[in-house]
Amino acid sequence: MNTPTTIYLDHAATTAVREEVVASMLPFFTTWFGNASGTYELAQASRDALDTARKEVADVLGCRPREVLFTGGGTESDNLAILGAAHACRDRGRHLITTGIEHHAVLHTVRALSQEGWRITVLPVDAHGRVAVADVEEAIGPDTVLVSVMHANNEVGTLQPVAEIGALCRRRGVLFHTDAVQTFGHIPIDVAALQCDLLSLSAHKFHGPKGVGALYVRKGVTLAPLCHGGKQERGLRPSTENVPGIVGMGVAARLAATEMDSEMRRQTALRERLLKSLLALPDVRLNGHPEERLPNNVNVSAAGVEGEAVNLRMGMHGIASSTGSACTTGSPGPSHVLVAAGVREPWLSGNLRLTLGRATTPEQVDAAADAYARIVQSLRASSPDYRPGEYP
Ligand code: PLP
Repeated sequence: MNTPTTIYLDHAATTAVREEVVASMLPFFTTWFGNASGTYELAQASRDALDTARKEVADVLGCRPREVLFTGGGTESDNLAILGAAHACRDRGRHLITTGIEHHAVLHTVRALSQEGWRITVLPVDAHGRVAVADVEEAIGPDTVLVSVMHANNEVGTLQPVAEIGALCRRRGVLFHTDAVQTFGHIPIDVAALQCDLLSLSAHKFHGPKGVGALYVRKGVTLAPLCHGGKQERGLRPSTENVPGIVGMGVAARLAATEMDSEMRRQTALRERLLKSLLALPDVRLNGHPEERLPNNVNVSAAGVEGEAVNLRMGMHGIASSTGSACTTGSPGPSHVLVAAGVREPWLSGNLRLTLGRATTPEQVDAAADAYARIVQSLRASSPDYRPGEYP
């Protein structure tokens, strides 16, 4: 295969595995391939590697290594957190609270619980995609078992008031789960400060391998397993451990933490540079929160164009972008996140997401802004729907 020439601005979908991460994984495919459950040297090496990775992830979360459970990715972590907590606590009540902007790994999981007879409250968000702590408080009842609110949204990048929600849940004796798939390795996380009981993360979002993730499970929190089998991961995630993947995730977590401060500053500056160019175009507006957003997320809507048409043309210009979550690509209809935030036409179907990463340069950002301007202009020129200056 040739080397791609794409300007990659879809880091919320996935990231390249770092060379150092690949190097750390390779010996565990070949030389040190042992099943961690064995009694010999090869097995001990795998166990040691799992211990090291568990500590590396725990250090970034500010928790004890024992509180980190390895999974097969963000979706599985979300499922295990929500179904696992619900099934373990079903005698305490059958009510669960979440928001309308969660990833489908959460929304479809709570939908599955509603089919089992659970009552689900899906909270609204404001125009910036933020949930109100007061709404969470009002929704909590005597039968509430779990609140699940994501740390940052994967489409519009809005950060949620998770520390306040965590404090509220702790006071009310309700479990709190947060999907931190888009934040782990990108912005600081301290599970004690967030007061969360469960937190999901996924390695491929921070330059680790795909198909491996983790769930933080606070000491004392009981979960029911999704799968039944061996004793791996305290019986909560049976199956032979993916040692190379887990080793890679640990190294990726450690490296992300080392450069987090500088990358946050650098990517925020690039984000603002890109936004300034995009918002200088007529009838283009920002989606999500102007300040409380991920350092690498730009999501804009242009009136009079279809976001999907812009996205396809960005690809033809060699720029990888997205209209929303990778998991909804190909499914028709507007983004459920924008709908939940009350975004209406002409903005609803005209959105594009550009997410920056550690290899993104100012030149790439400028090239993306140039391409976007040309594409929007040419689509509008041939659109009978576009009426310049008529959009408040
Ligand atoms: N949660 C969020 C917020 C995500 O952005 C994603 C992936 O896009 C997931 C969960 C699912 O993660 P994974 O792809 O590792 O299953």
